[in-house]
Amino acid sequence: MLDQAQQLLKSYYGFDSFRPGQQQVIEHVLDDANTLAIMPTGGGKSLCYQIPGLTKSGTAIIISPLISLMKDQVDALVSLGISATYINSSLSTSEQQERLDQLHQGHYSFVYVAPERFESSSFLRTIQSMKLSLIAFDEAHCISQWGHDFRPSYRSIVQTLSTIPNLPVVMALTATATDQVIQDIRRLLAIDEDFVVNTGFARDNLAFHVVKGRDKQRFILDYASDRKLESGIIYTATRKQADQLYEFLQAKGFTVGNYHAGLSEQQRKQAQTAFIQDELSIMVATNAFGMGIDKSNVRYVIHYALPMNIESYYQEAGRAGRDGEPSECVLLFSGQDIQLQKFLIEQSPMDEANKTNEYKKLQAMINYCHTDHCLQKHILEYFDDYSLQEDCGNCGNCQHDIEREDVTKEAQMVLSCVKRMGERFGAGLTAKVLKGSKSKKIADFGFERLSTYGLMMKTKEKDITNFIHFLVAEGVLSTGDDRFPILKLTKQAADVLKGEKQIWMQVSRIDRTEELDFSEALFEELRQLRKQLADDEQVPPYVIFSDASLKDMSRYFPTIKDEMLSIKGVGEKKYDKYGEAFLAVIGEWVDHHDVEPTKMPQPEAPSTIKHETTSDEPSHMITYHLFQDGTPLREIALNRNLTEQTVTNHLFKAYKDGNDLQWDLFFNEEQEMLILEARESIEEKKLKPLKDSLPDDFSYTMIKAALVKNEIL
Ligand code: ADP
Ligand code: MG
Repeated sequence: MLDQAQQLLKSYYGFDSFRPGQQQVIEHVLDDANTLAIMPTGGGKSLCYQIPGLTKSGTAIIISPLISLMKDQVDALVSLGISATYINSSLSTSEQQERLDQLHQGHYSFVYVAPERFESSSFLRTIQSMKLSLIAFDEAHCISQWGHDFRPSYRSIVQTLSTIPNLPVVMALTATATDQVIQDIRRLLAIDEDFVVNTGFARDNLAFHVVKGRDKQRFILDYASDRKLESGIIYTATRKQADQLYEFLQAKGFTVGNYHAGLSEQQRKQAQTAFIQDELSIMVATNAFGMGIDKSNVRYVIHYALPMNIESYYQEAGRAGRDGEPSECVLLFSGQDIQLQKFLIEQSPMDEANKTNEYKKLQAMINYCHTDHCLQKHILEYFDDYSLQEDCGNCGNCQHDIEREDVTKEAQMVLSCVKRMGERFGAGLTAKVLKGSKSKKIADFGFERLSTYGLMMKTKEKDITNFIHFLVAEGVLSTGDDRFPILKLTKQAADVLKGEKQIWMQVSRIDRTEELDFSEALFEELRQLRKQLADDEQVPPYVIFSDASLKDMSRYFPTIKDEMLSIKGVGEKKYDKYGEAFLAVIGEWVDHHDVEPTKMPQPEAPSTIKHETTSDEPSHMITYHLFQDGTPLREIALNRNLTEQTVTNHLFKAYKDGNDLQWDLFFNEEQEMLILEARESIEEKKLKPLKDSLPDDFSYTMIKAALVKNEIL
């Protein structure tokens, strides 16, 4: 049976090995044991019910709360050559009836339905008259009233199911489940403890960053300009913020959409479709956007303002990188945002106990912004997930490539100004005093006589205001809980004024240190072909091939069928449908460019070996030993299901722990010297300018390696 599962994985999906947890789930279901799968977003839950559905005879019923997703999911299955359909309220009565008839005749291997469908007697009659292979509850947390998205209609299915004589094996899948929710799901669906497969929530392709003390619009402009071809979502806290940022980015020439509850349904739908179809690269949105978005190639999610808690942050940020490719999650932090969130809690109709709880969650969110430790680990520990044994190696705090500047002197200026103004005013007026403004209000209070008047006259007033907000975020100033925030010194302020505590501020931008090991130009051509095919078939582009597949093609330049089939995500059916069109473009490209076809990837080792976690050895040491044994980086990455960046970070960590490393595999003496000299000669001691100042064939990995060896990084 399992062999067959492995074959299906290759022939239909074009994948060589299972992701963590998939195989166990499939095994349980094939053994007819009710099963609960808890895996992160993008972990590959769909495959867990699809492969058993293909293996067992009969039709699989997939229950999903997200009507908007059903069509895409069905399109994806159909594009793999699998017969599937959906029945929901978006169809006319006659369409529904037609599909029911076909279902009855056993035309479909899969049918997607919303929970309400189980209230329809014709549907119930139909499914009782046919052979069912399995019933899967996708987004199973909706079944529990302890979950954050409880749907009573979900729960009432349980009762209905108990009356079905031909009830098949039942499975539940979710990416968010606390212990309480897990117990609830298990009890309701009769799932034995032994058949709970929980892989934890870690997302090793996501790099988390917190950016403080920066002009947000400016940051976004730089950031998005560096990533013009990529898809990203920017979440704002309010509709007004969304509108402003949308207009700003549009004026700067970006293809950008806007999405919030204040727009008409049609406007929202249009924006969403254009984004999914890769026609817009950026979506600016409030948290109204995202449920039911399965777009797999979102490369970054930026939070323009502080989210209200870590639960929603992780869910929203988690929409990046579903295809497993390296992606970034950036939170832009400023002290003002805390005020806004507190205000929203105060204004909400919750009772006092719930408000206190919300304040606690908000505080946890603020703590995340201030931690010096691994950001991914911080989030996981918040969810009581201790499965990540070591730091992620990818986040802003692990990378340490964010440069900081000592701003203690400037902080002292602000603090003493606030003190002299009697701790009775807000950031705006304080900034005016420091700037030395001639405004009437200042004269009214006689502030031009303060010794701090004009102390920061060389700085723009707006920057001074931002800096004050930064000091609030740092906790040396507080603004109280009032509607109109008044600056007061905190206990820590005294230490700063006495020179006993230093204040540091981030200054660098987030560099794209991911090394491009594929041809961007070819990738772009393949994307265009994909877009054209997607438009012809009216499906989202990612349904045809994921970005991960296109990147692989632009890396290995397959020119014949066999080579194409060894590309990740290209199975037999996909090849039959699209293979030749893509081969043609690649062939043409190879003819006109001087490329040396890279060796095709070797099939990965079976997953039972790959994901063995029985040894107590920390993950970075497993990587280290493989490397020392002579396994190439790329192969370690493939076999361990990690990005190459993570693998190199593992090695650097092992070195920092005191292990020897074979540096000559990264650079030779001459190259090392050049890197060190170049670093001396540049002003901004950051990776990107350093890379720019060196010959093109000096990769980021090589440069980083030289810096690590010389204990600069
Ligand atoms: P989830 O429902 O858990 O959020 P999906 O089922 O939508 O995740 O899968 C996310 C992505 O991962 C899809 O693009 C899918 O094709 C890919 N994927 C799933 N399983 C594998 C695998 N074994 N190898 C490579 N990619 C996979
Ligand atoms: Mg899913």
